[in-house]
Amino acid sequence: MNIVYDKYFSKFLDSDQFKDLIKSIDDVFFYDAIINVKKFDNFKLFEEKLGKKVPEWVIATNHEHEVWVLDPSRWSQKDISTPEQIIAHEIVHIIVNHSFETIPPLWIGEGMAIVFAKQTEAIETFDDVKNPYDETYNDNLYRDSAKVIQAIFDQYGTENAINYMRSLKDFEHDKVYGYTAINDFCKILNQRS
Ligand SMILES: [Zn+2]
Repeated sequence: MNIVYDKYFSKFLDSDQFKDLIKSIDDVFFYDAIINVKKFDNFKLFEEKLGKKVPEWVIATNHEHEVWVLDPSRWSQKDISTPEQIIAHEIVHIIVNHSFETIPPLWIGEGMAIVFAKQTEAIETFDDVKNPYDETYNDNLYRDSAKVIQAIFDQYGTENAINYMRSLKDFEHDKVYGYTAINDFCKILNQRS
């Protein structure tokens, strides 16, 4: 993967933390494309380009092969993640959206983005996992999704899990990633803790 960005981002994207994150993403996805990281200072312009209202808490998003980020000076008060992690998170979304046979359900995309960006601090301390298929966009969606994806990676191996997902056509009825399978998987996870 080739990441293109303007000078502004050098202090984040030339860092070892970012390089390590990208290496672990490259190692499993082998995604060969150019990804552009662009800055938006103006929230209104950001919304205009996206063509929709954006909730206040959004600090970055992705569009085709571009990561769009809002002024990182706002980031510190928003999130426990670093700018490096936030950009890596969006890059995982881009790869998943373009390299899988079928775009996976919301929770799988978010779970993988969090796990690969190592934004997993929040999932280590909780143990009541709900089926992320039942969540809408909120903190629980991120938390439950990441917890389930991490547990699946631990059980099957990250590369195997990704390769299996890559060619899936029907996630919701799948024997590993389907609604019922994930329900059972959550029950087991909750008994373990
Ligand atoms: Zn995301």
